[in-house]
Amino acid sequence: MEDFFCFTLSNLEARIGALGKEKYRARQLFRWVYKLGNLNFNEMTNIPKGLRTVFSEMFSLGPMPITGEFPSGDGSVKLAFTARDGETIESVIMPEKNRMTLCVSTQIGCRMGCKFCVTGKIGFRRNLGAGEIVGQLISAREYLKRKNESPVTNLVFMGMGEPLDNSENVMAALDILKDPNGLDLSYRKITLSSVGLIDGLTMLDAKSAVIAISLNAADDDTRSMLMPINRLYPIEKIMDFVRNFKGTKRTRITFEYILIKGINDSPEDARHLADLLKDVKCKINLIPYNPSPYTDFERPDREVVDRFHQYLLDRYFTVIIRDSRGQDVSAACGQLGMNYLNSDPSNSVNSHNKRPLFPEVTA
Ligand code: SF4
Repeated sequence: MEDFFCFTLSNLEARIGALGKEKYRARQLFRWVYKLGNLNFNEMTNIPKGLRTVFSEMFSLGPMPITGEFPSGDGSVKLAFTARDGETIESVIMPEKNRMTLCVSTQIGCRMGCKFCVTGKIGFRRNLGAGEIVGQLISAREYLKRKNESPVTNLVFMGMGEPLDNSENVMAALDILKDPNGLDLSYRKITLSSVGLIDGLTMLDAKSAVIAISLNAADDDTRSMLMPINRLYPIEKIMDFVRNFKGTKRTRITFEYILIKGINDSPEDARHLADLLKDVKCKINLIPYNPSPYTDFERPDREVVDRFHQYLLDRYFTVIIRDSRGQDVSAACGQLGMNYLNSDPSNSVNSHNKRPLFPEVTA
């Protein structure tokens, strides 16, 4: 049986067309499943009964089972799903005042090896398929329905993995998520965060998603120490991409900057950052580091964070401090996948699973 959630509308039309059936049945299925939230073929009453049977034997509509639910004191909830091969996929639901944001994963583990990130310590296990990426939203939607909570309004691709290291599946998932016949999510409601893989970034256009770049330092030495990928794609390459990006009038690239005590939080670091971004239409998210037992990094004192913030505000940047949600349940930025490190010593930093994509840049 094929996973329904991995099909873009055009792929589904081709699949159904290959059966000798009308292609518009694909649009009907999209509407039932994504727009109306109905996962039962038997209830799709505008599709002939015989065809419903064919579809129910062909496609699996079962949401990924939730095998772990970790509510945080701040209202966010980390959900763990078990994939067909037994791997664990994690997402985080983050209720806010006027929206419900879901943070989705795109890989199991990650090969970027960012020094501040728990997921990076797992190493790469595998890419998620488009159906597993979309499936996180479907399962979260069912979960929220059961809890009588508001539906997901915004998506952030900031969970486990580097989305553009899995661009084919991520692009297909974006296609499904934004399809007007289905979920019809606006690109403005979807943020895709990347370490700056230029090949992947150049595949995006202004309406693919809101682009966020995980910058974390304004000089190459510090950034390469924190993020080995910087040796392949140094800051200047990222800035070239940003300056040449053809956006709409409203397009602004978001830069994420995790503030780490004594590493990138000094007044001089703030000055470098302001110099680097002074001619760029952008938004800056400052994220005070979330400590974990797997790194020696520390969170800066609040005054240091506020001073950094103020320096940028004084220079007319749009900049906010984003305190990560779900720290108490290891759901915060850079903490996903901790269970892999906790439960299986073979998944440690030195395990065979740590297969770098770019061996030449691995620290
Ligand atoms: S921060 Fe993102 S890209 Fe870097 S190791 Fe973690 S998951 Fe991978």
